Amino acid sequence: MAWQNRLLIVDDDPAIGDLMVQVAEGLGFQTTYVERSDNLLSVCGVFQPDLIILDLMMPGTDGAQSLRSLADNKCSADIILFSGADTRVLNTAARLGESYGLKVRELLHKPVEVVDLEAALRRFMTPSASDLETALRVAIDKKDISVHFQPKVNLKSGHEWVVEGVEALARWTCPGRGFIPPADFIPLAEGAGLIDQLTDVVIEKAVPAIGDLHQDGHPIDLAVNISPLMLATSDAPDRFAQFLERHRLDTANFIVEITESAAMGDGPLTMENLTRFRLKGMMLSMDDFGTGFSSLVQLFRMPFSELKIDQSFVAELDVKEEARVIVRSIVDLAHNLKITVCAEGVETRETLAFLRSIGCDQAQGYLISKPLALGDLKAFLLASGQRPIVEAVAVEPTG
Ligand code: C2E
Ligand code: MG
Ligand code: MG
Repeated sequence: MAWQNRLLIVDDDPAIGDLMVQVAEGLGFQTTYVERSDNLLSVCGVFQPDLIILDLMMPGTDGAQSLRSLADNKCSADIILFSGADTRVLNTAARLGESYGLKVRELLHKPVEVVDLEAALRRFMTPSASDLETALRVAIDKKDISVHFQPKVNLKSGHEWVVEGVEALARWTCPGRGFIPPADFIPLAEGAGLIDQLTDVVIEKAVPAIGDLHQDGHPIDLAVNISPLMLATSDAPDRFAQFLERHRLDTANFIVEITESAAMGDGPLTMENLTRFRLKGMMLSMDDFGTGFSSLVQLFRMPFSELKIDQSFVAELDVKEEARVIVRSIVDLAHNLKITVCAEGVETRETLAFLRSIGCDQAQGYLISKPLALGDLKAFLLASGQRPIVEAVAVEPTG
């Protein structure tokens, strides 16, 4: 994760270098100082800085040459240019760096006051993992996690978009930092022991919302992602079943998605929990199929009712014959074992046509719809021709 605050200081004056190291480390940066820029690239390769303070006037390789070699190496760090040269030279160097596609963010004049250096560095500090963890804990306590829904459509209906279900995806906007993708905050929640509570918040928001849609005549399934860690200890099958009962959503309309992973293992407790989801009537989906760790044999011994083909295969269907062979084989294998198949990450009509041609059951992806807030999902269901099912009302004969 990029919450490291790794600063590389490049300056030929060791006294200035020392001062910068002291100030930056006092703020919580990890630092590396180099006195010469000749081996800048190899230092970057090893240290992977998020931020570079680059003195422009260096012996040997000068600042302009350094900027070019950073650009040639696709350096993505923020850059602060530092120099005793006059403002025009600094500005020209900044424009040069930007024209190479580098992220030149600030110009610092030598000599620099400690307060100015501190202020500049603070602007680049990302919260530490523990700050972010605290913020996540607060968000979960306050139920400040929202849920978006991505439609899953039936490919066998003969109609364009028949939405059979939706996948609930957690969304978190961290105050002061903005949108944090699940790929960052889910592992954080797992590491901090918060994943059960986070999943409960998602379920508490998603189940009543989909329950209401059922009442409104849209009898769609709800899929929720759970972490493999939750299988080792948790009482998730009971908690979920109670919640579904309270909100009168049929367990048959509830799909538990779980990613094939090393953490899942095939121990007795994992097997027991997976089986208990099924015994309570819930569906079980193997997410991101093809990327994980389980052997096929282990996988098919477990009681999965659906598998979702990982988007990395789906994305290549239009261009790679091997991807088509693999996906066709997965669909056949799953069907022979009475498991349904959903392809995720469908982005083109060609992909969709291929999936239809090989008998894949469902598709999900940006071609059909991005994950939607609840209001937008309702509009999508109506626009996709999925009008509410209105019960036929018997008309009393008159006269
Ligand atoms: P996932 O369960 O495999 O969900 C599908 C991801 O692919 C979602 O990313 C979705 O927005 C994205 N996606 C869907 N269609 C397309 C497409 O056509 N193209 C591309 N490029 N991407 C597409 P998102 O929402 O960022 O979620 C990432 C992962 O985070 C999820 O992968 C899931 O493993 C995890 N996650 C999300 N919400 C939760 C949650 O509530 N609990 C747990 N344990 N994990 C969650
Ligand atoms: Mg999923
Ligand atoms: Mg997936």
